[in-house]
Amino acid sequence: MIKITRKENCTGCHACYNVCPKKCIDMNFDEEGFLYPSVDSSKCVECGLCEKVCPIIHTVEVENEPIAVGCYNKDEKIRMESSSGGIFTLLSELTIQSGGVVFGAGFDENYNVRHAYVDNMDDLKKFRGSKYVQSTIGSSYYDAKKFLEQGRQVLFTGTPCQIAGLKRYLKKDYYNLVCQDIVCHGVPSTYVWNHYKNFIADGRKIVGIKFRDKSTGWKTYSLQIDFDDGSSYKDIGNENSYIKGFVKDFYLRPSCYECKYKTLHRESDITLADFWGIEANEPELDDNKGTSLIFINSDKGKITFDEIKENIISKIVDIEKSVTFNPSAFRTSAYTNKKAKFYRKYKSENFDLLINKLMKDSLLKKTIVYTNSIKAKIKRKLLKK
Ligand SMILES: Cc1cc2nc3c(=O)[nH]c(=O)nc-3n(C[C@H](O)[C@H](O)[C@H](O)COP(=O)(O)OP(=O)(O)OC[C@H]3O[C@@H](n4cnc5c(N)ncnc54)[C@H](O)[C@@H]3O)c2cc1C
Ligand code: SF4
Ligand code: SF4
Ligand code: SF4
Repeated sequence: MIKITRKENCTGCHACYNVCPKKCIDMNFDEEGFLYPSVDSSKCVECGLCEKVCPIIHTVEVENEPIAVGCYNKDEKIRMESSSGGIFTLLSELTIQSGGVVFGAGFDENYNVRHAYVDNMDDLKKFRGSKYVQSTIGSSYYDAKKFLEQGRQVLFTGTPCQIAGLKRYLKKDYYNLVCQDIVCHGVPSTYVWNHYKNFIADGRKIVGIKFRDKSTGWKTYSLQIDFDDGSSYKDIGNENSYIKGFVKDFYLRPSCYECKYKTLHRESDITLADFWGIEANEPELDDNKGTSLIFINSDKGKITFDEIKENIISKIVDIEKSVTFNPSAFRTSAYTNKKAKFYRKYKSENFDLLINKLMKDSLLKKTIVYTNSIKAKIKRKLLKK
């Protein structure tokens, strides 16, 4: 039976939870606000299936030659509602038009993030746009298998570790499955997200959230939260404390600091990312409305891409060069000791002030290290004389 001895070794993918024939695995939140499996040993029959499907125990080396493409959806409305170039919606529309089902991450009624499935165009909007919180998979792998066995086309979207969990759970390749992952910086904790939402809402009821509102531009995107009294909170992404704490890795899942999935050789058929650094790399694709960098990872990915091609503006680009400004594509986030400081204080201190203090500490530390290295350089020069 599955036992978590090191938190870094569990991505929370839910593959073990979905496969257990005795339904004796629960996913419970730890003190940081991340879900981990816990087995009711009185019901466990030691069948070993949970270990067999765990993508961390059974890793897969992918050998492929991905093709990188810079692109965006010609439909400007969809593009403006999407985080990058609106490519997710095109892949989904293709699936739904063929009578298929799309799995993705959406908000539940409390604005927590959960995986679910939709099979009509109108409901697709639930999944559109990045949500910077870990999405709970629930029984999505089980549901996806049911549709696949019925012969329906399935598009499964999520983080690379969620795609790995699905693939180990399914055990075989289905002709009617397309997997789309994202370049993933890491996922913040549900508890921290809940705390932040309540801090901003201050008693008001939330009626809408956009993590990537583009009204000030794609590059200076804003977090926007709407309330039932007609008021809204809006803050530019790189000035917003929740986004700053996320980008600075203060509250990522432990597995995100040792991520095995940040590579250019991926298990998914298609990978979606923001084309950061586009102004330097491919300026003709940049109008600050959002451009995607996508990797076509497999033959299935290539067939799917060819089917959406007439609806996008695109250009094949050099993969190594195109990820220069997007380290999450190939390098894991580094653990920061600010994380412990953050968790000790976030429930009792003002969220904005705490993040600003931790950011200043980082800056101060960088300055001290920099000053010390200059001093050391001068000392070395003086000693040489
Ligand atoms: C937590 C997170 C971290 C990311 N980090 C980076 C990064 O470092 N660099 C980069 O270039 N891009 C990153 N992205 C991806 C990027 O923000 C866009 O989601 C992606 O480029 C797709 O954009 P789009 O315009 O085609 O579609 P959109 O409509 O914007 O994207 C929707 C897609 O994102 C999925 N999604 C949304 N939230 C989640 C979630 N919480 N968990 C799993 N899947 C989710 C949906 O299921 C759907 O597949 C990240 C996304 C998330 C959710
Ligand atoms: S060993 Fe089998 S029965 Fe026991 S928890 Fe794992 S999957 Fe469930
Ligand atoms: S299968 Fe997924 S959730 Fe279960 S232990 Fe492995 S990584 Fe964790
Ligand atoms: S950084 Fe890695 S471990 Fe963390 S959510 Fe993304 S893919 Fe999963």
